[in-house]
Amino acid sequence: MISKKMAKEINKQINREFFSAFLYQSMANDAMDKGFQGAANWLNVQFKEEQEHAFRFAKYLEDQGAKVVFEAIEAPKTEWADLAEMFKDALEHEKKVTAWINGIFELAVAEKDFATQSMLKWFVDEQVEEESSVSDVLWMLEMSSGSKGAMYMADKTLGKREE
Ligand code: MG
Repeated sequence: MISKKMAKEINKQINREFFSAFLYQSMANDAMDKGFQGAANWLNVQFKEEQEHAFRFAKYLEDQGAKVVFEAIEAPKTEWADLAEMFKDALEHEKKVTAWINGIFELAVAEKDFATQSMLKWFVDEQVEEESSVSDVLWMLEMSSGSKGAMYMADKTLGKREE
């Protein structure tokens, strides 16, 4: 069994993962509205991944006999100046998520909760991937800025991301 405090923290993280999903889909909506179908695809795949993260945490709570409790999801931003600004926000957001996960890990260490530490290891590794892939996209968009042809190609590249 995990502590009540730990269950509360993981529940908070489930909410944050759903917010992440909501934020990425809001970015997808804006990308689609601006005609960037490839970027919208990339962001929609990310939306699905974030929901999987939420359910991965939820499954862990259930396995530990703790109840999954949903809270209201904050409204996401709905419009960005351009794709580069959007992915800059995405990178900032992923850094926040990393800090939250590290915070839960710290609690698990303090509580000598080895099961939660083990479960969190997957998320620690995943956050390295998330920050890296968002940084790669941001770099491509920054390199393409000012060139319609390059932006078209960047959007095509983003359209190739699969689930
Ligand atoms: Mg996530």
